[in-house]
Amino acid sequence: MDLVNEIHRIGVKKGDTLNLKVSMKSTNVTANELIAALLEAVGPEGTIMAESFIRSYPLRYLRTHKKTSSRFTPSYAGWFANAMIHYPGSVRSSHPIQRFTAIGKRANELMNAHTADSYAYGPLQMLCLTGGKNLNIGKVVGVGTTHVAIGILGLKQVIPRVGIYQDGELFKRDWAGGCAVGFGNFKHEYLGCDKIAGANCTLSDMHTTLTNELWILSEDPSYFMCGKCIDCRYSWEFSPGWKPLNRVMLSLFRTYNYLKWSLTN
Ligand SMILES: [Zn+2]
Repeated sequence: MDLVNEIHRIGVKKGDTLNLKVSMKSTNVTANELIAALLEAVGPEGTIMAESFIRSYPLRYLRTHKKTSSRFTPSYAGWFANAMIHYPGSVRSSHPIQRFTAIGKRANELMNAHTADSYAYGPLQMLCLTGGKNLNIGKVVGVGTTHVAIGILGLKQVIPRVGIYQDGELFKRDWAGGCAVGFGNFKHEYLGCDKIAGANCTLSDMHTTLTNELWILSEDPSYFMCGKCIDCRYSWEFSPGWKPLNRVMLSLFRTYNYLKWSLTN
């Protein structure tokens, strides 16, 4: 079946604003073919958006290595993210680390509002409030709204002391993260499940999933945790190991890991 028809069959409509989470490895097309089909599926009134986050560095490391963030800094998020960055007509947000990229009618509106002063996941929050849908293609975790719920509820975590330079200014990370494994704990209601380009995919309404997550996390903030990784065990104020000494150890452990990584990359 034609790729555009497959995208329509799962429930994507003309004029939709889509947040995309894509594992290209699961598909049988190229990233540019997929982007072109998605743009045709949403039409000239529609918009597609994806995260294109960039790596941050320990503040200690940045004292001697002035790593900078700019419009075309490559993303660690994979082929799809990097294809979006270079696709004709794409707009990338200017948040120094959690950069998003969008193409289509609302691209400028969504991306221009996301700056160094914004919440890291601001564009996802905008989509929740304006009828956005999340489309997962291939093996990816989450539905694009759990970070928004964590931000709205103000859940507290020991934030890694990392950052990057942008336009000569040092930007420090100021938001809590999550757990990629534990994000699978939420039972979501999907608008559609099917295959696109040979990969399993799901479509969900972002306002609905955010509402579910806010309701669940306000009852039990630890619901998104896997309970096994270092972050889940020690870094959150509702983690079982949330004690002052553990928090110091956690910061040292993270700094050690980052320094080890920076020597090998
Ligand atoms: Zn975890």
